[in-house]
Amino acid sequence: MLLSFQSRLALFFAALFVAVQTIAFVAVRNAILANIAAQSSDQLTQAYRLFTARVEDTAATLTGWSTVLASDFGFRQAVASDDRPTIVSAVSNLAARMSADRVMLISLEARILADTGSATDGAINGNIVTIGDADGVFAFPDLIETADVDGRAVGFVVMNDRLYQLVIVPILAPVPIAWIAIGAEIDDAFARRLAGEVRTPLAITFTAEQSDRRSWRVAATTLPASLAPDVAAFVPTWTGGDRLTPRTVTFAAEEFATLVTPLPAPASGTRVAAVLQYSIDAALQPFGGMFQLLVALAAAFLTITVAGALIIARSVAKPIRVLDEAARRIQQGDYMQKVPVAPGDEIGRLSETFNQMMDRIAEREMKIEHQSLHDPATGLPNRAAFERYLTTSIQWAEQSGRALSVYLVQIGRFSEINNTFGHDVGEELIKELGDVLKGIVKQNDIVARHQGNMFALLLPGAGIAQTNPIVQRILDTIEEPIAVAGNAIDVTAWIGEAVYPDHGVTAKTLLQRADTAIYEAQKSARRYALYDPDQDPHKPERLSIMGELRQGLERDQFQLYFQPKIEIGAGTLIAAEALIRWRHPTRGFLAPDQFIPLAEQTGNIQRLTAWTIAHTIAQLAEWRGRGLALKVALNLSARDLTNRRLPDLVARHLATRNVPAADVILEITESAVMIDPQQSLEVLGALDAMGLTLAIDDYGIGYSSMSYLRRLPVRELKIDKSFVVNLPASPGDEIIVRSTIELGHNLGLRVTAEGIETAETLAILRRLECDTGQGYLIAKPMPAAEFEDFARSSRWARPH
Ligand code: C2E
Ligand code: CA
Ligand code: CA
Repeated sequence: MLLSFQSRLALFFAALFVAVQTIAFVAVRNAILANIAAQSSDQLTQAYRLFTARVEDTAATLTGWSTVLASDFGFRQAVASDDRPTIVSAVSNLAARMSADRVMLISLEARILADTGSATDGAINGNIVTIGDADGVFAFPDLIETADVDGRAVGFVVMNDRLYQLVIVPILAPVPIAWIAIGAEIDDAFARRLAGEVRTPLAITFTAEQSDRRSWRVAATTLPASLAPDVAAFVPTWTGGDRLTPRTVTFAAEEFATLVTPLPAPASGTRVAAVLQYSIDAALQPFGGMFQLLVALAAAFLTITVAGALIIARSVAKPIRVLDEAARRIQQGDYMQKVPVAPGDEIGRLSETFNQMMDRIAEREMKIEHQSLHDPATGLPNRAAFERYLTTSIQWAEQSGRALSVYLVQIGRFSEINNTFGHDVGEELIKELGDVLKGIVKQNDIVARHQGNMFALLLPGAGIAQTNPIVQRILDTIEEPIAVAGNAIDVTAWIGEAVYPDHGVTAKTLLQRADTAIYEAQKSARRYALYDPDQDPHKPERLSIMGELRQGLERDQFQLYFQPKIEIGAGTLIAAEALIRWRHPTRGFLAPDQFIPLAEQTGNIQRLTAWTIAHTIAQLAEWRGRGLALKVALNLSARDLTNRRLPDLVARHLATRNVPAADVILEITESAVMIDPQQSLEVLGALDAMGLTLAIDDYGIGYSSMSYLRRLPVRELKIDKSFVVNLPASPGDEIIVRSTIELGHNLGLRVTAEGIETAETLAILRRLECDTGQGYLIAKPMPAAEFEDFARSSRWARPH
């Protein structure tokens, strides 16, 4: 487990304090102990001196007494005559007077003449001396020898299990006639008396070697009896050395400075030693209070230290905790709540930096958010942002029961503009257009860049019943050439609209529907379309038709019909237009309008076109083989014009069937070219170079851009049937048809009129010098076999 910063700091200080205190305590105690050791050494030395002086005193006193005894004539007489009663009485007297513990009279032959200690009890009852085994032999002859030489002998001896300090002096008359031995018993009382004469508390123990000469026993001691065995056991381990250098010994958990001093003993006796001990614990006693005080102080200081450490730690840790919490808030994206800044210290500066950091992050995040929701070129909201707005607006519209309109504005020729003027100009143009759109809509309406060449608009709904006038305003404004980087650029646009809630209730659906509407807009002269569910290729029913279309192509459910095309001036058939039909196994006979737009929008048109090309050229070859010389026109879709492989495909079929390229006419519409003029021009250029004839179909209903028409490699203009069918009844249509024919001729193009249903119409067209024509008047589209008959035998047949 990790401790908090606070407790770690407190723990550190506590540990530090305890360590310092312990060291100090040990140092003090060691100093005191050293002092005590030195002191004990002094004390013991002093005690030793005192002790030896005492022994000397005793010996001197005993010597004095024995001299007194020896000088007594009567006594000398008694000894000389071996008058035992007198001897005993004199010895007893002496013992009583000098209160000696034991007095012995020893003959020159070392026989004990008198002894105040009995062999059995040796007790002294008052002043009555019981004489023991008087005729025994004195056990320590070497003491007598020493006394003989020195006039006196002193030694510690054990007699009857008692320890005595024995002084032996001769009784001189004037030559020695006997020896007197006077003993002071070394017992606990003696030891206590001796210890009492020393100022310091001293333990004195007298020990004697046992008769086994290995173990020792305690003869007298001031120590408690319980410690006697320890001391007795310790003595043989004493390693001598300097007899005045004490050693520290522990007995029963008590420390003693100890000095063992051998005492003079006759060789004939056992060894004797005094143990002088100085209790260190006792010596420490006066310091005990001091140590307690030290410990109490240490405890008090420790408490203060820990408390102080905790307080400091908290004061340090608190701002860190505050910063930590702030960091957590940042993690959760809250940059608003600032860290309070305490001025001055490092933490204060850190807090300040932290706050600045928060501001930066917030700023950066806002920038990133802005970038993620905006188009960098125009600064307009991007597609993601638009979908967000739209979703919110839908919720709002749902609550308020209102309608919303989503418009997609697609800019035509954008890739061509990019290629011609460069990407920068393209982006600049889009930016200008964005500004234009923003200028047209109300301030709160949303304009976003939905795709490279597409804007999205979100406007309060006008409903599906009426078209918002803003649509026309946008189209008109965009139509004006726009000046970008010194170029006046012509722009076209299509607008698709989807309405909430009629066409969808989610942002995604509405956008998809508006996108579908653009397809319709591209085919419409108005260049605007409101989403029409019936035209939507994404409808499941329509999608299933698309699935069936592929199958139908494989299974030959399709058939080409041919409509004759005549030379109006000569009134002779010169060509045919191939028009596709689908004999659907369950849906019956389907007109191209029912599946061609669908195939275009779902990407199936290329398959269909390939089929048409293959069958048209095959039919041409067949007719050519049977001597029927005519040209055949076939229809191309917008998507075909962007298919770079189309020229190759056509070339392959022409080559396989050995059909000259000049026999094939390809009909295209202006609007198809406008969707991607650059690409279309390439494909059309290739087809033209191959020798095929290109014709503009449905001329007049699309928007007509003369400048484009001039750049297109077309040879023929087909006036749309809507201007032709009512020609006799409509002077306005006639004006259009006439000017179109003139325009076409001026551009060196042949002009065809389609939709000729009456002879009257044909007459007008002849007067207007229209080159070719087709229509129900001449014939409706018909299967190939029928057409062949028609071509050979009808009144339009070319004379052979
Ligand atoms: P379109 O190219 O304008 O073809 C002429 C259409 O007008 C044909 O309709 C034809 O039957 C009809 N028509 C001909 N004469 C008259 C007339 O005197 N009065 C009236 N009211 N109509 C007349 P259809 O065959 O239904 O074709 C419709 C459209 O389908 C064609 O219009 C063409 O755009 C497209 N289409 C037909 N076949 C193909 C094809 O194989 N490929 C492609 N891409 N499109 C095709
Ligand atoms: Ca056509
Ligand atoms: Ca047409």
